[in-house]
Amino acid sequence: MNEAISERQTEYRKLPAVDALLREPAVALLMGDYGDELVTECVRDLLAASRQQIAAGASAPDVECWPALIHAQLAAQSTPSLRPVINATGIIVHTNLGRALLSAAALKAVQAVGAGYSSLEYDLAAGARGSRHDHARRLLCALTGAEDAIVVNNNAAAVYLALGALCQGREVLISRSQLVEIGGGFRIPDVLRQSGARLVEVGTTNRTHLRDFTLAVTAESAAIMRVHSSNFKQIGFVTMPSLAELTAAAHKHDLLLIDDLGSGALLDTTRYGLAPEPMVQQSVAAGADLITFSGDKLLGGPQAGIIIGRAELVERLRRHPMARALRVDKLTLAAFEATLHSYRRGRAVQELPVWQMIAAPVAALQARASGWQARLADQGVAAQLQAGESAVGGGALPGETLPTMLLAIEHAAPDRIAAALRSQPTPVVCRIQQDRLLFDPRTVPPEQEETLLTALLAVLQ
Ligand SMILES: *Cc1c(COP(=O)(O)O)cnc(C)c1O
Repeated sequence: MNEAISERQTEYRKLPAVDALLREPAVALLMGDYGDELVTECVRDLLAASRQQIAAGASAPDVECWPALIHAQLAAQSTPSLRPVINATGIIVHTNLGRALLSAAALKAVQAVGAGYSSLEYDLAAGARGSRHDHARRLLCALTGAEDAIVVNNNAAAVYLALGALCQGREVLISRSQLVEIGGGFRIPDVLRQSGARLVEVGTTNRTHLRDFTLAVTAESAAIMRVHSSNFKQIGFVTMPSLAELTAAAHKHDLLLIDDLGSGALLDTTRYGLAPEPMVQQSVAAGADLITFSGDKLLGGPQAGIIIGRAELVERLRRHPMARALRVDKLTLAAFEATLHSYRRGRAVQELPVWQMIAAPVAALQARASGWQARLADQGVAAQLQAGESAVGGGALPGETLPTMLLAIEHAAPDRIAAALRSQPTPVVCRIQQDRLLFDPRTVPPEQEETLLTALLAVLQ
């Protein structure tokens, strides 16, 4: 007993003093990188942890190990919480992994505008105050055929602003089939109530007719709202009037037609073997008064909410006090404008990562997956190729998939391997199916291939 206590005393005595450690040249050097305060705090924490470990029966670290321990701890603490990951899941617009990737042009615009002053609210021609709302406006109108446009924080904000500014205290008619929850707790009935509008449910879960809307119109009605059922599909005995029919009915009764489109597709998804996702241009052509959609789903840009439509209505939104609270910053606008330019030049599929991924032919994916397989085989790691499916994700095109070629790695403890991959310097997120880890080249940009292979070898070799 006494012997154990005296052994522990010896270990405690091996612990250096805080000051002595801070005077060590290697530790003093760290102060240049991390600052005195952080290093001192780290030294204290490590010594306290060591004392606890000794109390629990461990021995003290060797004295020459301390600088390395301190460095490792500081490096771990300064790893950002928000950091890049490799998405090998094959889900293109992955909500948890940041949705759309920005194009090279969008990133360049962010860099240029972020690093210096900009014409954010300055009219260069007039040499006077300008409006941040002017930047993406002309491009949005040219691309969609709308009269006017405003960009806000996200589509949830777009819906909230449109309803709050135009329908507060009045009724908004929505089909019972469209009272949807988008994910992350965004529920159309809740947003509607929050905006101060009054929800009037019409029709049934599966069938809503035009007369359900027209019979529900009262002197209190302000709008008919259509909400795209982005993330689920109804099949069977189902009906819903077309947008053109709804618009005609709304206008006949002096109501607005507000169309919440969700994903904001500007390109035709059927060209890539997918079901048709409603396109923004179609809603404009059908006569909707206001249309809302996200910037970072199928549009392939930064997080944003876009509201386009009749000039007089958009102007009212722009003037609304909430517009200030929901507005976007210069970095978003820079990325967004650059993204729209890709569409304008007819280069969206070539330049925007989301569309590059959607358009990637299975033969090209197979070639990449088999390249990975060969590289791993060279290092003694066995993997197979397996036909599979990628998904668009982001709450768009539910149940729709794109054929792909997966790299499959069999392992007795796939969850353990997946966890190890997530703890790599650049974490890798993949799919697990039974005893296989699956890696889909569709969502791995070619620039990340080397990093992915390095991570796989580090974990599997
Ligand atoms: C995704 C979606 C939203 C929410 O958009 P955010 O950009 O995530 O705020 C709203 N409505 C529909 C129909 C959607 O699909």
